[in-house]
Amino acid sequence: MSDFQAPAGRYAPSPSGDLHFGNLRTAVLAWLFSRQTGRNFYLRVEDIDSERSSAESAQRQIEDLEALGLDFDPPVIYQHDRGDAYAEALSRLDTYECYCSRRDIREAASAPHAQPGMYPGTCRNLTEEQRALRRSELHAEGRLPAIRLRAHVREWTVHDFYQGEYTGLVDDVILKRGGRIDQAQAGDWAYNLAVVVDDGYQGVDQVVRGDDLLFSAPAQAYLADRLGLTIPSYVHVPLVVGPEGRRLAKRDGAVTLREMLRENSAEEVVAHIAESLGCAGVSNVQKLREVFDPAQLSRQPWSWAG
Ligand SMILES: [Zn+2]
Repeated sequence: MSDFQAPAGRYAPSPSGDLHFGNLRTAVLAWLFSRQTGRNFYLRVEDIDSERSSAESAQRQIEDLEALGLDFDPPVIYQHDRGDAYAEALSRLDTYECYCSRRDIREAASAPHAQPGMYPGTCRNLTEEQRALRRSELHAEGRLPAIRLRAHVREWTVHDFYQGEYTGLVDDVILKRGGRIDQAQAGDWAYNLAVVVDDGYQGVDQVVRGDDLLFSAPAQAYLADRLGLTIPSYVHVPLVVGPEGRRLAKRDGAVTLREMLRENSAEEVVAHIAESLGCAGVSNVQKLREVFDPAQLSRQPWSWAG
């Protein structure tokens, strides 16, 4: 049993399909940063979205990562087992109920002076009477309110290995989704809460992930601060993009490891990843660990050439 006391990094995929080249490159980067700095390295299965996640997919992802030679410190954590921890964290935060539908939020967010993508605070300052009314309206529709963080800051600054100081807006993020009364269960935890609570629990003090998640780092760091957890150092790495310049996806064809292994050996796949990291000619991850230089990583998206 791991003691979770040691500094650690992690890779945390959602088990909703086989890992593709972009996922694998980010996983290799997370492993490299962690191992080069003497950290433990954990695999965490982010399966709070029970509709899109499967245990079979999680197992296949673990096999894929092992096929590339990546090793993990035990144990593997599954977020669907962690509901009690999320509930305990929620109980320690300043929160409020939100009764908005997606449409409500969309409409409010399109109002003048609204910040795109930010919750406009519709439910933040309701009176108890107004809350009772909104709650009963929602119940009549068979729905439950969501729970939001009552943020006491407007922005937060994190430190990122590549971006330096990065300041972003913090809004009242959802911590627990509403959902339907007849399906009410502990499966509605929001990503922002789960990721922060789990990083804290596992002693993760280095978060390496795709730079499409940079925008979420300030709110997550603020949440960690509210929970009295260590704020991790961040390493947001460029994504792999497909032929049209968008984030690589399965629609781009033959990009999953399983597909690639029909035509290539695992060493060839590692060599392809190594080349994308500025280490051409390296075909195993242990060697890559010796020669990879984080400062030399291209800051541009890597174009998948198939
Ligand atoms: Zn609301």
